[in-house]
Amino acid sequence: MVKDAVNISQRLLNISELFYSIQGESTYAGLPCIFIRLAGCNLRCRYCDARYTYEEAHATMAMDAILSFVDSYPGALVEITGGEPLLQKNVYPLLAQLVAKGRTVLLETNGSLPIDTIAPEVIVIMDIKTPDSGSADSLASGNIAAAKARNKNIPGSCEIKFVLTGRNDYLWARDLVNMEALNMSCPTLFSPIKGELSPEDLAAWILQDQLAIRLQLQLHTLIWPHLSRGI
Ligand code: SF4
Repeated sequence: MVKDAVNISQRLLNISELFYSIQGESTYAGLPCIFIRLAGCNLRCRYCDARYTYEEAHATMAMDAILSFVDSYPGALVEITGGEPLLQKNVYPLLAQLVAKGRTVLLETNGSLPIDTIAPEVIVIMDIKTPDSGSADSLASGNIAAAKARNKNIPGSCEIKFVLTGRNDYLWARDLVNMEALNMSCPTLFSPIKGELSPEDLAAWILQDQLAIRLQLQLHTLIWPHLSRGI
């Protein structure tokens, strides 16, 4: 057992950024949050604002160093994001360690890898890629069913996010939400891409369709409009 604990603490993760900020893109928006941004992504979305996670050098950190950083902010949420965090197998023991510490843990994924492997205590935020992202059809089969199942077991444990660039994306996302009755079982968020879709237009469409989803603006980009990292 002690040997296992030592091994776990020494496991390595490729880290793009580690920082403390305000959660900006979920129903937890506004709360202080530690972000563990893992390097690497298997998609190449047209509007990607985190290209540095796969185009630039990253650090390699042992798990105990990451946990030590987390321990210095005991009251904060912890979000693991990317890139695509599920590409690194050591993310699973990291999640387990954070859950064991009693932390509220969010895991943001692009939906291309199965989410039924993630511990039930973790709050998954699954970004379903729309046609205008250029990464449509990347959603892993079974992930919508898995999202519903997670929420059935623990309500609120899997949020669905759609990042929208315009009217076509909105209609596609709206139809998927209605066809799957997604908003009946999962917290569902529509988020407009800054500079491509105005919040005012998106709000008008949502109200016109009486679509019971949450309009989500990227709070951190409103607070720090001139920063692109560490927020
Ligand atoms: S999934 Fe996220 S990090 Fe990966 S390319 Fe798309 S927007 Fe960028």
